[in-house]
Amino acid sequence: MSEEVREERGKGPVEAQSSQAESTMAAILAIAADAIIALDEQRRITQFNYGAEQIFGYAKDEVIGRSVNVLIPDRFHSRHDEHVASFASSGVAARRMGERREIFGLRKDGSEFPAEASITQLGETGERIFMVVVRDVTDRKRYEALLSQSNAELEARVMERTAALEEESQRREEARAALIQAQRMEAFGQLTGGIAHDFNNLLAIVLGNLELLEARVSEEEASDLIRRAVGAAQMGARLTNRLLTFARRRPLAPTLLNANDLMLGIAELLKRALGERTTLTTVLARALWQTRADPSELENAVINLAINARDAMPKGGKLLIETENVTIGTADPIAQECAAGDYIAIRVTDTGSGMSPQTLKRAFEPFFTTKEGRGTGLGLSTIYGFARQSGGHVTIESQLGHGTTVTLYLPRVDASEAAASGNSDDTVPLSENCETVLVVEDNAELCEIVLRRIEALGYVVLSAPNASAAIAMLEKEPDIALVFSDIVLGSGPSGYDLGLWVRAHKPEVKVLLTTGYASDAAGGEKIEDEFEVLHKPYSRKDLAVALHSTLNAGDG
Ligand code: ADP
Ligand code: MG
Repeated sequence: MSEEVREERGKGPVEAQSSQAESTMAAILAIAADAIIALDEQRRITQFNYGAEQIFGYAKDEVIGRSVNVLIPDRFHSRHDEHVASFASSGVAARRMGERREIFGLRKDGSEFPAEASITQLGETGERIFMVVVRDVTDRKRYEALLSQSNAELEARVMERTAALEEESQRREEARAALIQAQRMEAFGQLTGGIAHDFNNLLAIVLGNLELLEARVSEEEASDLIRRAVGAAQMGARLTNRLLTFARRRPLAPTLLNANDLMLGIAELLKRALGERTTLTTVLARALWQTRADPSELENAVINLAINARDAMPKGGKLLIETENVTIGTADPIAQECAAGDYIAIRVTDTGSGMSPQTLKRAFEPFFTTKEGRGTGLGLSTIYGFARQSGGHVTIESQLGHGTTVTLYLPRVDASEAAASGNSDDTVPLSENCETVLVVEDNAELCEIVLRRIEALGYVVLSAPNASAAIAMLEKEPDIALVFSDIVLGSGPSGYDLGLWVRAHKPEVKVLLTTGYASDAAGGEKIEDEFEVLHKPYSRKDLAVALHSTLNAGDG
């Protein structure tokens, strides 16, 4: 047994209890990680435990008897004094522990640290003692700071990601809108193309009959009426032609061209068309890439854009025409409409009235116009069709009251590629003089298709279901330049027989035969020796080349 215990035996129970409490207290003081400091009424340090030594860096002996102020940074002295004074006078004998305050402590080496302090007062009677418990919260503060920083970073990342998602969904929305618009235009094209084609045929009949009638009428007044009807029918034909351009069904004659040259060529004309109150500025790209397009259609397009601009600037303004090399990436919204790649852009900007969103949405529709009584609504739609058929695209940016920019994109053609592409698929020889071709085909449906294909190459077409009808037509129509006949024509005379007749009676008319049979089965290497024969099935290019070369054979 230890001596202490033996000693206790000699004491009374109360004394033994209090002595045990003291040693418990001593143990607590020794092992507590917090600083536990006792102060007397003058706030001098009377106890300073091991935790306090660790936290403040003082040895116990160095601070016992000194004012607690040595442990507090100067600037807090007065506040601390006040606090203790109010605490002492508050009449509360023993405050609950746990009422912690955040303070700063001062170490022996002069450094400060954040701390949490609790203070309590002992000894209601007699001299009062303050017990102070101080906990160094440097680490906790650092973790808190770290945590709030990483929270902030996390939040920033979340915000960034949200913004990216929003951007992505907006991009998708735009792409979807572009797709819907493209589908709409496609549907318009289908519809318009069909109607325009039928209409054109009707007009051709009207015009043809008027011509025949004119030849028979001698009376002046009647002739005048006929001429007016012809004029109106021709105007109708011009309109339907523009519709066919919109529907991409009109043969274009694309050539390799430099859009800068073309712009310079029409600048004078535009200046005159715009009038004095509108200034025209052209900004042409240096080293503009070459493109392939129908030059007269391109001129038409730019003139139409300039006229639209003039209409939008009744009091005058500025018109800017720019050319530029542009590369369209796969992520560009416009790549929905035309393949990614290199294009030349022709941009026409005005400072006019601009378009409302509703007008903008419908501007490319054929017949859409806001110029009641003056407009046809065929300007932009024709340009749209031309651009699409040329492998390009057209866009409008416009804001009501802020002017309009229309940009025409046409595909780049490499100079070397251009030189080499003499026989590429997109350069089929088109009709040079709108020659008339008589198509002889006994299958009506097939005949219609052949007629359309030949018409699309720029020729004027006529048709006959058999050889005798063809001969009748050849005798009546002096304009027929070529007979394009199937070799097998039902039960009557064959295409070959028809060819022989033409040779005998109309030697100036060229003959091109076609057959679905291999040459020997159709009975004739003989035929091929005498006439040009195009074998079915043939491509658009095969047809174009055969027509072109037959027409031009024997000319030299
Ligand atoms: P039109 O000129 O015969 O009306 P367009 O197809 O050329 O037909 O144009 C269709 C419509 O688009 C116009 O009626 C007009 O409302 C609008 N528009 C076209 N170009 C412009 C422009 N530069 N500024 C303002 N509005 C325009
Ligand atoms: Mg117009």
